[in-house]
Amino acid sequence: MIADDIISIYDGRGATAYFGEGVTVAEHCLQAAQFGRRSEASDALVVAALLHDIGHLIETVPDQISDWKTDGRHELVGGNWLASHFGPDVCEPVRLHVAAKRYLCATENDYRDALSAASVVTLGLQGGAMSPNELTAFEAEPYFRDAVLLRRWDDQAKIVGYPTPDFEHFRPLVERLAAKYAAGPRRT
Ligand code: FE
Repeated sequence: MIADDIISIYDGRGATAYFGEGVTVAEHCLQAAQFGRRSEASDALVVAALLHDIGHLIETVPDQISDWKTDGRHELVGGNWLASHFGPDVCEPVRLHVAAKRYLCATENDYRDALSAASVVTLGLQGGAMSPNELTAFEAEPYFRDAVLLRRWDDQAKIVGYPTPDFEHFRPLVERLAAKYAAGPRRT
């Protein structure tokens, strides 16, 4: 069952990996989902926020962000993994959430200054602010607005001690969206 797999991934590596922030990846993702809920986002986008960093947990990267020499493209790892279980309304914002950071760096003056130190380190590995051509291509993505929303919750979701529900709270939602995808027409 996909929800069991997700919960065991977050309860395992997700509960111990920090990747340069003051919160674990699991805490970070729960906060992002909580911010999505508070913004009255769609169920799919709340689940995307909850799962946006799962690519970090299913690939092997050093725990110390200063040891990252290349970008692991965790958004692609996660987006591809999720595409076996959820529709594009979940997977696409996940796949695009790093591009959204590069987009906001190019389009909002103060955005980069507000990033965490770890996010600035990875920004360099991820290619920095988007070029004009990249901006045009990004805005042509059907889910680019959702990716930008997710990105803003992602950037906020680094608050030590911030109370959130646990993953079990989101289980019914995850199962409902996975069941909807399984029952729908398959993409080839
Ligand atoms: Fe994140």
